[in-house]
Amino acid sequence: MKQSYRRYSEYLKEKYGKKTYKLPVNLPVSCPNRDGNLSTGGCIFCGEDAAGFEMLSLNLSVEEQLNKNKAYIGKKYNAEAFIAYFQNYTNTYMPLDAFKERMEEACIAGVVEICVSTRPDCIDEDYLDVLEDISKRRGVSISIELGLQSVNHKTLEKLNRGHSLAEFINCVGMIKPYGFDIGAHMILNLPWDDDGDAVEAAKILSALRIQTVKLHSLYVLENTYLGDLYKKNEFEICTMDEYVERVVLFLEKLDPEIAIQRLLARAPKEKTLFCNWDASWWKIRDLIEEKMIEKNVWQGKGYDYLVNRSVERFAKN
Ligand code: SF4
Repeated sequence: MKQSYRRYSEYLKEKYGKKTYKLPVNLPVSCPNRDGNLSTGGCIFCGEDAAGFEMLSLNLSVEEQLNKNKAYIGKKYNAEAFIAYFQNYTNTYMPLDAFKERMEEACIAGVVEICVSTRPDCIDEDYLDVLEDISKRRGVSISIELGLQSVNHKTLEKLNRGHSLAEFINCVGMIKPYGFDIGAHMILNLPWDDDGDAVEAAKILSALRIQTVKLHSLYVLENTYLGDLYKKNEFEICTMDEYVERVVLFLEKLDPEIAIQRLLARAPKEKTLFCNWDASWWKIRDLIEEKMIEKNVWQGKGYDYLVNRSVERFAKN
């Protein structure tokens, strides 16, 4: 039986030849979509801690956080190599000197890659040059993760993302010449998106030839605009079965080379109004994998749309 989808852990094993794990690092940064630069509200789903509810204290330096996480994760998972993962908020939203200093600090023993998560409208060549220089001098790979969430510009407006698909495409084009891995964060069960948006997302990400995708299922937090809408029943989230079907559709259309970092989100226990239909994330992951087997579908089974079929008839034999 074909493997259902390309797992990120296997991608890393192939790339580095050993078990490689991400070590999250928390920086005292904000986000231009929250601090008034673009908007004060932020994305309508973004909580006070953004994605950092599992992070270590900001009182620790980059090196201290990495060493602490390395001791824990290295032992727990028998990991031999590590990725310094700047995950929370917008990790390029700081002056260039400060950015450079933080990236240098991340090059501790055992770190083979620096991964920077940011917005597609919050990075330029100066930041990429810093990363390229560090990569060459310190012998680490670089990856950039970009939040996109949806390819539907109307949905992005509803989310108050402050950017559209165009900025994402532009950013991918800017990073490509540097040869860094590029990852996209997507939410497939946004209330304003449907199966067609998921399929289009898979096609666009494949056409852009990025390296990884992280799927988040939407969760709803207290004290967010989305939370207020949720309490007033102003939108509907698709059912768990519909989410499973949508993820399968997405994977079917996705380039089989793209590695899947995650199929579902995890939310903080506190102040969460909705998350994963109250089921555990691994149960839903199992349902997705079972559904792929049941439908005889694998990642890339429907990846046949970038071959310019219309001119095939003119090809020389
Ligand atoms: S871009 Fe990220 S950190 Fe900024 S408001 Fe949106 S979800 Fe929150």
